[in-house]
Amino acid sequence: MKKYRIALVAHDHKKPELLQWVNKHIDVMRKCSIVATGTTGGLIADNTGLTVTRFKSGPLGGDQQIGALIANGELDALFFFWDPLNPAPHDPDVKALLRLCSVWNVPVACTAATADMVVTSPLFLSDDYQPVKPSYDR
Ligand code: PGA
Repeated sequence: MKKYRIALVAHDHKKPELLQWVNKHIDVMRKCSIVATGTTGGLIADNTGLTVTRFKSGPLGGDQQIGALIANGELDALFFFWDPLNPAPHDPDVKALLRLCSVWNVPVACTAATADMVVTSPLFLSDDYQPVKPSYDR
């Protein structure tokens, strides 16, 4: 079974929900290699004992660091609990991160319900499933 490379990001009002979700799926999370934006990563690491590689805080470039992993083919899934009710100063970065998931066909879950479905799918953690990688060569 391969070590799944996942990223966790939650905007401030969604952080409690993400933490609850991570705890709910803690056994699956232990099988993953986890990166996160700075504050989200600190929260998860401090409250779960999981090892989390922390990037910069989202507004300071953390979303773009995760985007770079996606562009380099180094991320298997993104769990991004963004806040639909409050404006974010780094909204362009949020949009760019979601866009890159579509560009590179990377699974992305933006709600706890979708995230539940992703991590309980038989395809998750499976060695047999490889998402189609789009080719943009002409
Ligand atoms: P944070 O960043 O984990 O540092 O709060 C998340 C975000 O706002 O993108």
